[in-house]
Amino acid sequence: MGFSSALVLFAHPDDAEFGCGGTVARWTAEGCTVHYVCVTDGSAGSNDPGTTREAMREVRARELAAAANVLGVSSVTILGELDGFLEVTPETRRKVTREVRRLRPEVIVAPDPSRLWSGTGYINHSDHKAAGALALSAVMPDAPTRVLFQELEDEGLEPYEVPNLFLISDDGDTFVDITDTFDLKIKALQAHASQVPEAFEARVAERARALGERAGCTYAEGFRAFRFQDD
Ligand SMILES: [Zn+2]
Repeated sequence: MGFSSALVLFAHPDDAEFGCGGTVARWTAEGCTVHYVCVTDGSAGSNDPGTTREAMREVRARELAAAANVLGVSSVTILGELDGFLEVTPETRRKVTREVRRLRPEVIVAPDPSRLWSGTGYINHSDHKAAGALALSAVMPDAPTRVLFQELEDEGLEPYEVPNLFLISDDGDTFVDITDTFDLKIKALQAHASQVPEAFEARVAERARALGERAGCTYAEGFRAFRFQDD
């Protein structure tokens, strides 16, 4: 793929590693500058009685920084929306558009907002769908259209056309071979100590192996790839 820069947009601090951690590790190793933008504060990440949002917020920011460091990510921005209640509003669209116009990435990687569930054992989190929808609306029309969020011009942020979009998907059309970076994906996921259950590795490996089978390699991550400009 050979992107020079990427913005990975996601709802919760551990989403990027689960969805595309191996790809991020591979791209950074190849010289791509990868930026993380985490839309919520991750403060709903514990169901333990007595755990507060305030305490969780700090834990998760620390874990995200550690995971990003494992993968060679250049910057981490947390937009701080309340975990569990992410919505597509003019305010959240402005916040995401600000980051897109500031970072001007060659590709945005984001969750697929059309994913409602997987199989019969997983309902997709509402925040994931909202983060994906925010990525789509940033690509078209928010980031490239001057009169939308014209106030961002006062911050020196010019409109920007995003050339490529990768939506994380298990039934997409594009695969990244993560055989060489699978260990780094696992190591980055381990940084999210408050989140990953016992023996999570087997489940992650199973998914990467299933995608690898379709891609013709040992481990892969899958995407639906959009290209908006001719080379
Ligand atoms: Zn999540």
